[in-house]
Amino acid sequence: MPILLPFSLLLLQAALLFLLPQQRGPVAYIAMVAAPLLAALALYWRSRREKGRRERKLWWVLALGVLIWSLGAMGNLWHEWIQGRVNEMYREAMLAFQLAGVPVVYLLASEPRSGRRHLVRLIDAVLALGLGYLFFQVTWGMLTARGAPDEAGVHALIWLIDAQNLFLSAGALVRCWVAQDRSERDLFAAVAWYEVAYLLIAGINDHYVAGRPEFGPEHSSVVTLAFALLAWRALKVTKPRAEAAQRPIDLPRQRLVRSASPILIACTLVVVSLVLIRIDYAMGAAGVVLGVVGYGLRSVLTQVRQLERGDTLHRQRVELQTLAWTDALTGVANRHYLDHVLSEATAQADAPPRTLAVLMLDIDHFKRLNDTLGHASGDECLRQVASALRLSLARPGDLLARYGGEEFIALLQGSDVEGAMQVAERARQAVEALAIPHPGSQDGHVTISIGCASGLAGSPAGMHALISAADQALYAAKAAGRNRVAA
Ligand code: GH3
Ligand code: MG
Ligand code: MG
Repeated sequence: MPILLPFSLLLLQAALLFLLPQQRGPVAYIAMVAAPLLAALALYWRSRREKGRRERKLWWVLALGVLIWSLGAMGNLWHEWIQGRVNEMYREAMLAFQLAGVPVVYLLASEPRSGRRHLVRLIDAVLALGLGYLFFQVTWGMLTARGAPDEAGVHALIWLIDAQNLFLSAGALVRCWVAQDRSERDLFAAVAWYEVAYLLIAGINDHYVAGRPEFGPEHSSVVTLAFALLAWRALKVTKPRAEAAQRPIDLPRQRLVRSASPILIACTLVVVSLVLIRIDYAMGAAGVVLGVVGYGLRSVLTQVRQLERGDTLHRQRVELQTLAWTDALTGVANRHYLDHVLSEATAQADAPPRTLAVLMLDIDHFKRLNDTLGHASGDECLRQVASALRLSLARPGDLLARYGGEEFIALLQGSDVEGAMQVAERARQAVEALAIPHPGSQDGHVTISIGCASGLAGSPAGMHALISAADQALYAAKAAGRNRVAA
């Protein structure tokens, strides 16, 4: 039971606080260091348990954030318990509490399935770190604006920290909402539980508890609840739901969040830097530059990747298109391509109709060849005939396609019937010259018959008429004894 471990530790903390009234301070300080350390351990366990490299790293990053928080708690322990200085603000501890948010900001900006994009992730990490550090400078600068921490400064600081925690909570909830799979949802659910609990507990602590003499560190130590929740979520591995194990990739909201999160971080960095400019001009200006340049660089990298992906898609599309339009056996265009060309040609209705000749070519007694020599020889014969036909069509605009079975069709742009008959005769002779043995034919080798037709190609109906005229001519050639051309 993942919930037992973290909550028995919480119970232990409560019991010790209750049973050792004299030692409440030390117990509270130790608990505030131990809880984040244990949560980090739980997160580390979870990172080892994840299968994907990316998921493992993301859990580990979260563990890092919690570890940094525990450093801040150690700072408080040192100053307040060991050194006995209560109700002050310590720069390093404050810095650690602020930097603890950096890994979370990085997680919020991270892209699911980003593949090998180390440079983009490095930029995100730098932007998140810059944001954390500059935010610390703003808060610390407000606190010490008048030399030493005063009430107005503390007040402003508390509201800023509320805003920061609200930002992280909202970010985590949004990422949980758009998570693409179980593992990502588990991660952001853990972050959301932790951040929302932390927002509430830290808010109550900062506004009502801290700095009041009637409360002590034992009251502030309620914050361990947030770490117990985090540890619980880290230890809890949810089972994939049967039907919705994986949401479809790229819902519009996912696309929106994925594109917006890096912008959001750069924008927040710029806003924080602009506030910082009033306190520390150089550092604020540097922050603005970092935000703008970092974001620009990131956009360029993303853009390049998109272009690469676009190119790949285009190339694959062309390859697939070629494949879809090629006859696998003979390598000439297939019926799909022919239909495509015909529909393209008739689609240009406003263009003046052009003369077009159609040749219908059919191998003579091909069935007998198959029957006597077998289908493998039949296929080989088809291949050879197709390449001979292709070579005999001289002009670049001419098209040869396999019409079906052992029938081919040729479209000759701008040819009249005489021209078409010349080309057809050349094709017939080319096939005859192949001298492919054919026991069942009258000449002893493979021959073809060709029907020609020529006319004005404009409308689909005109096209059909041309093709059927060529078909009729082919029948005439067959009837007249095969191995000949008819128009
Ligand atoms: P005709 O001289 O009248 O054209 O006689 P034919 O036998 O060539 O005519 P028919 O159209 O009756 O026969 C076509 C044969 O082509 C039928 C089928 O066995 C064969 N065929 C169709 N496609 C292929 C193919 O891809 N490979 C092989 N090996 N044979 C095919
Ligand atoms: Mg035939
Ligand atoms: Mg036929």
